[in-house]
Amino acid sequence: MNDTNPYRFFITDDDPGTISVLTHVLESAGHTVESTTSSVEAAGIIKTMRPDCALIDIMMPQIDGLELCRELRKIFSSDELKIIIVSAKPYEFDRRRAMKFGADGFLTKPINAMTFEAQVIEIIQDRLELKFWGVRGTLPVPGPEALKYGGNTSCVTLDFPKEQFFIFDAGTGIKALSDSLLGAGKTRKDYKAFISHPHWDHINALPFFAPLYIPGNEIEVLGAGHDDVTMRELISAQMDDIYFPITIKEFGARTYFRNLNEGTFEVDKIQVKTLLLAHPGHCLGYRVEYGDRSVCYVTDNELFLPDSDSFDPFYVEKLSNFVRGTDALITDCTYTDAEYETKVGWGHSSIGQVVDLAHNADVKNLYLFHHDPGQTDDDIDRKHETAVEDLAKRNSSTQCLAPSEGDLVRI
Ligand SMILES: [Zn+2]
Ligand SMILES: [Zn+2]
Repeated sequence: MNDTNPYRFFITDDDPGTISVLTHVLESAGHTVESTTSSVEAAGIIKTMRPDCALIDIMMPQIDGLELCRELRKIFSSDELKIIIVSAKPYEFDRRRAMKFGADGFLTKPINAMTFEAQVIEIIQDRLELKFWGVRGTLPVPGPEALKYGGNTSCVTLDFPKEQFFIFDAGTGIKALSDSLLGAGKTRKDYKAFISHPHWDHINALPFFAPLYIPGNEIEVLGAGHDDVTMRELISAQMDDIYFPITIKEFGARTYFRNLNEGTFEVDKIQVKTLLLAHPGHCLGYRVEYGDRSVCYVTDNELFLPDSDSFDPFYVEKLSNFVRGTDALITDCTYTDAEYETKVGWGHSSIGQVVDLAHNADVKNLYLFHHDPGQTDDDIDRKHETAVEDLAKRNSSTQCLAPSEGDLVRI
């Protein structure tokens, strides 16, 4: 498939009026469009024309749109041809069937002429959306010195183009995520919440994630147990008795817990790898693979200096291989290099250490994360500048970014 704009479209719809509207919207944006009102002819034309994207109605005489989708998917992979169902049927049942039959997206009629082209492009480009909801470590830091990066603790999401929605950690940033999901009236019902480890700054706002209280939702919480303490017990303990007035028994959503170790897992058809990190207790780093892209969430983690007795070259090599070549490494850079000198053994890394790791592992984009609560916006700016200068001196291909709360990156 051609992977740059403009694209070649083929529309199959028995309503010439719909074809005319869709053609106008797409051609106005510079794309090429051909079409047919006959679902019987469509497959043959698509085989010859090899468009980038087929837009298909469902309710058509002769061959139903979902059947056509299934037939095309036997011939073309999703990389060769994107298939988008454009139907007046608003039912979740039909959307699920379309995805099961190999569709890449499902849009409902009547279409919004202002947003239709952007929706279609988003499906074709199949991008992951990485969003930061809290970038601080250890403690939330409200106040005038945390206005740029935000004051909330760890929470990041990955929104996949089709179905899946992954949450990494439930620090206080998860409250803004919860508000955003409710405010947007999102109909999303399945969530996977990956917990790095049960220190407060990574779990203590989970009880404020409102989808947990909505019947019909399904939420799985995954992470490393601690010896004989399971994930379920880790999460329920902080809501137990005198610590919180609501227990996990009051969750309205179907909530599951899964104990993970180091390994490779399939979660909602997405490959997830885990690695135990250098931090007190069991702390997992995650690497998520999606097509030819990947994202690594690696916090909290201490890299130690090479002259330290605790420096472990075997671990550094293992971690480098874990994050090698990734599109996005979100990682613990709690301290400046000077601060780290008095914080050895606290379980966190300094800016120079993560720059080393990212450069040596050919990471494409390094995202600075889990900032010390004592640091102001200006301090984080300086850590970022230091990293950018250091990478430039090395002629590195690694880019360094310091995300703020609310930042969204398409990968
Ligand atoms: Zn932490
Ligand atoms: Zn920690």
